[in-house]
Amino acid sequence: MGIWDGLYGPVEVKAVQPYEARKQYVCPGCHGPIPAGTGHVVAVPRDAPDLRRHWHRACWNRRTPTALKKSAPRKRR
Ligand SMILES: [Zn+2]
Repeated sequence: MGIWDGLYGPVEVKAVQPYEARKQYVCPGCHGPIPAGTGHVVAVPRDAPDLRRHWHRACWNRRTPTALKKSAPRKRR
């Protein structure tokens, strides 16, 4: 289980508007830069807010299905 799959509790995802993005960040999804002034998302593990990371919106969305698949309810045996 990784940081983004609940290792440090539920992950809160907040949208960062272009005017709020004053610095360049590196996206953990693609390891590419998120230039200042670009709208993106910030993911904050509830129990480890220091580990928050800024992601491209598309990169975050791309990784989400894995987490959803893992936590999807299983059929009863
Ligand atoms: Zn990215």
